[in-house]
Amino acid sequence: MKTLQQYFQEAKTGKWAIGHFNFSTADQLRAIVEAAAELKVPVMAATSEGEADFVGRDQAVALVQSYQKEGHDVFLNADHHKSWETIKAAIDAGYDSVLIDASKLPYEENIALTKKVVDYAREVAKSSGREIPVEGELGYLKGSSEVQKKVEISREDYTKPEEAKDFVTRTGIDRLAIVFGNIHGIVTEQEEHLDIETLKNVTAAVPEMPLVLHGASGLKDEEVKDAIANGISNVHINTELRVAYHEALEGELEKEPSQTTPYKFLEPSYEATKKIVLEKLKLFNNL
Ligand SMILES: [Zn+2]
Repeated sequence: MKTLQQYFQEAKTGKWAIGHFNFSTADQLRAIVEAAAELKVPVMAATSEGEADFVGRDQAVALVQSYQKEGHDVFLNADHHKSWETIKAAIDAGYDSVLIDASKLPYEENIALTKKVVDYAREVAKSSGREIPVEGELGYLKGSSEVQKKVEISREDYTKPEEAKDFVTRTGIDRLAIVFGNIHGIVTEQEEHLDIETLKNVTAAVPEMPLVLHGASGLKDEEVKDAIANGISNVHINTELRVAYHEALEGELEKEPSQTTPYKFLEPSYEATKKIVLEKLKLFNNL
């Protein structure tokens, strides 16, 4: 099995992206893993702080490791962990990778916390023989992983190329999440557009660094393709999976109101999740 960092190097040079999908139930994770296996591509499965609290960090690690033992190329990421305490808990529990999101803090504080996490991850990696790549985030990414009407964004919130270079050098991170028009979640009364010029400028400033596109739910396929062709190596999808799971569940409960067996009424949610993961992975991997 290749390591996540090896896959990122391949993605960077081959101009494709590793799909990143969130889960908070075992059936969502199964849908993610099985979709990736069908296409024979690596995949990242992730829990945010809230999702991790629901599944349990040790339990998320055990679940993902059970698939890794079967030979699946799935890697567990701690998505948007915002405090030292929660991110340390994820590293200690055995997560394969973490995202320290200190992007709302003032710039110097973002650097300090991110660097502290990188140092700790390196120390644990060294003593355990694990590889624990760390993602940092720069720029103000607005919105939340749900369906929203409108989210105000301004170019002021975008990642600045000169800051990206400084941030990468001073923190020693392995991946960088950037902001260039993307919004978390889905917006219904607004067109979401990526600013590819900003992306190109960031790519030119940190050419070796895998760049991460968050909030890709609701973006047009063409825009995502364009982003991957111009330096994005990792794409995050969460809200579209949540909506599909919820809609399928709602439909099933309406259709079979007396069905009380979870593995029966959750089957359509599982199928709907897998369908979206398959579509997204084909797009991200140029298949
Ligand atoms: Zn995100």
